[in-house]
Amino acid sequence: MSDCIFCKIIDGDIPSKKVYEDEHVLAFLDISQVTEGHTLVIPKTHKENIHELTPEIAGRLFSVVPKITNAMKEEYDLKGVNLLNNNGAYAGQSVFHFHLHILPRHGEQDGFD
Ligand code: 5GP
Ligand code: ZN
Repeated sequence: MSDCIFCKIIDGDIPSKKVYEDEHVLAFLDISQVTEGHTLVIPKTHKENIHELTPEIAGRLFSVVPKITNAMKEEYDLKGVNLLNNNGAYAGQSVFHFHLHILPRHGEQDGFD
């Protein structure tokens, strides 16, 4: 979709810090880090929200999450993980290309309570 920020990130027209990439899925650091390592996981095909996901796409997205969280565990002392997903403006979605937030928790000092 031409006016979608995340499609532009997929196409390389907007730079991002990539965390993981395969044929169908891209994960990159959120520009506004709620906790250090805050990552977004997106399908490479434009899907606005969860209602548009096929089971196949949903499966691919979720299968990537433990790869990323296990890499976080390797990298530092991961205390916990929050997964977040907003669908629709009313629910707080601000970019209308489906994305899963992965929020690594670093302990009390991460300031996200
Ligand atoms: P939402 O509020 O839709 O659940 O989350 C959208 C997320 O996208 C926000 O956390 C926001 O910081 C992030 N975001 C918006 N624009 C960009 C961008 O250009 N690059 C990156 N890396 N993240 C973005
Ligand atoms: Zn898009």
